[in-house]
Amino acid sequence: MLNRRQFLSAAAASAATFARAPRAFAAQAARHDLIIRGGRVIDPSVRLDAIRDVAISGGRIAAVEANIAADAADTIDARGKLVVPGLIDIHTHTARSAEGPGLVLQDGVTGWVDAGSQGADHIADTIAVARSAPQQGRVLINIGRAGILPGGDTMDLTRADVGAARDAIAKNREFIVGVKARLSRDVAGANDYEVLRRAQDVATSFGLPVMIHMGQTISPFPKLVDLLKRGDIVTHMFAPPPNSIVDDSGHILPEVLAARRRGVWFDIGNGQTGHMRWDTIGAIMKAGFWPDTFSTDWNTNSHTTGVIDLPNCMSKLLGYGMTLSQAIARATVNVSRTFPLFNDRGTLNVGAPADVALLELREGNFEFLDNFKNTIAGRQRLFPSGTVLAGKRIPRA
Ligand SMILES: [Zn+2]
Repeated sequence: MLNRRQFLSAAAASAATFARAPRAFAAQAARHDLIIRGGRVIDPSVRLDAIRDVAISGGRIAAVEANIAADAADTIDARGKLVVPGLIDIHTHTARSAEGPGLVLQDGVTGWVDAGSQGADHIADTIAVARSAPQQGRVLINIGRAGILPGGDTMDLTRADVGAARDAIAKNREFIVGVKARLSRDVAGANDYEVLRRAQDVATSFGLPVMIHMGQTISPFPKLVDLLKRGDIVTHMFAPPPNSIVDDSGHILPEVLAARRRGVWFDIGNGQTGHMRWDTIGAIMKAGFWPDTFSTDWNTNSHTTGVIDLPNCMSKLLGYGMTLSQAIARATVNVSRTFPLFNDRGTLNVGAPADVALLELREGNFEFLDNFKNTIAGRQRLFPSGTVLAGKRIPRA
């Protein structure tokens, strides 16, 4: 039993806590829903890299501390593992199939964007997948109204239909978070500049970003990148010539530097064909123009290509001088700044939604593949090892 003084001070303390904090983490003494114990917590959003426990209550991060004494309904033993904010992948094709979201969730991906699988004609298909996904999933509408076509999305310029795209966005504001323009020679042909101009026309009328798929374009890249505004995203930033972001003598093009200065994001978009070649990557990394964000360009076949999963893609630049923490930032806190719906993600800060990825950092001899069958050797590789979504442990398949 508490005596009167203890009771009063406990009541005052609890009232004070209650006044400051939402109900979910008011009762510090109570059991937590889940504690992830003993992992190496790397959270670049707060510059943390240390052995910590992560306590979760009510679907939110309740504490990140050493040796949390409190009890929990469920415990994950994370000793020997990395505990990082849930990963966010902004260039995927997750919504092309109903099983996509569940598959990437196994890789630690707790938020994704389907980057232009569909245009106005069939946008309902990708939105249906996003709507039923267990994690946050959103779509970019392809400015080509028929979506991705084997013969080229906008080779026929009438497919870059501003009116159709605007109607689709107006009806689906909650799920369409931007416009995708694929600009390569075999996708848009000589229409690349006009396709991007139309995509920008659609996006700006809703205050949304455009994501461009760069590389192997007919128009020179400076002409295209000059059309990008603050918040727009260049994916496939490592695309080899013709029209890469780096010149033959290893200098980043001035228009590209200017784009970064005005707030354009540069993203990897690993993919399978034409987007990554180690020599171009080496030149761009050496010039100090590092990606803002990692993304996979994921498809259901990614496990059998050089993509494999987002943790594998995150491992590829460790050999180019990137630290582990810098790599994790590019799949967490950096990505949280790209689309508003992710603004409260990418962090393990107390009060944040409890999306967590558990990773294994293995040491050994690993081979990483570009899109041209060239390999580089690596000494470290990240493997997915577990996912917590909104405070709940996701069973491993
Ligand atoms: Zn793609």
